[in-house]
Amino acid sequence: MFIGGFPVSGYYIFIGKIVILFFLIIVLFILFALALGIYTVRSRKIVFPTFVLFMLYLFYSPVKWVFDLFSMNDLLVDEILIEIQNAVNLEKFKKRTERKVVLLPQCLRNSECRARCDPLYGFVCIKCGRCDIGTIMDEAEKREFKVFVVPGSSFVKKIFKEYRPTSCIGVACPVELSESMQKTTVVPSQGVYLINNGCFETKVDVGDIISKMELVSPIPCESGTPRATTLYDFEDDGGLS
Ligand code: SF4
Repeated sequence: MFIGGFPVSGYYIFIGKIVILFFLIIVLFILFALALGIYTVRSRKIVFPTFVLFMLYLFYSPVKWVFDLFSMNDLLVDEILIEIQNAVNLEKFKKRTERKVVLLPQCLRNSECRARCDPLYGFVCIKCGRCDIGTIMDEAEKREFKVFVVPGSSFVKKIFKEYRPTSCIGVACPVELSESMQKTTVVPSQGVYLINNGCFETKVDVGDIISKMELVSPIPCESGTPRATTLYDFEDDGGLS
């Protein structure tokens, strides 16, 4: 029996070869995207960001599975995605000067926190000093950022609907942050991931959050010059401009 001039067995072998070739090309593309992503995180030089974001978001679960298989830290994938999203959003983020928000996860709170939870805007911090949220609020007020301590993603939706922020600094664990930054494309955002996982009394680098705020609202330090912030260098804009 023949299909398209090929014997049936030859036809299936041909299809099999095409599938294997396609699979190998995909694997090579993913490895290339990962290599570019690691280069980006280490050197802070951005190369083909659109390609890296597309490949790592599209093949997110298989890539993480392979990391797990080889007992590698799969959070590296999320950190790459966050760093590249930060770089891609940077210029738009710097131009937004109204209704800027910082969204903090409620797990940053101390276990003895007495803040009440507003049904619309989340926890209302009273700056008791038991966790870093009070410090972040003080720094945010100086730079005209509004801070929300959110108990969950439903609150984020409510805040976006009611407060209508024009830019956002999001703090979360790497997995949640990389996912939410993919969804929040309308509002330019900067992500800062938590130092420790566990959803309980978590920690964040407060200096990182202040650096992000300084990108928009720099406050001169004692020497009179704005605080230095880490920026990115686009070696190739990947069609962003
Ligand atoms: S500083 Fe604010 S959020 Fe932190 S424990 Fe005190 S009231 Fe709660």
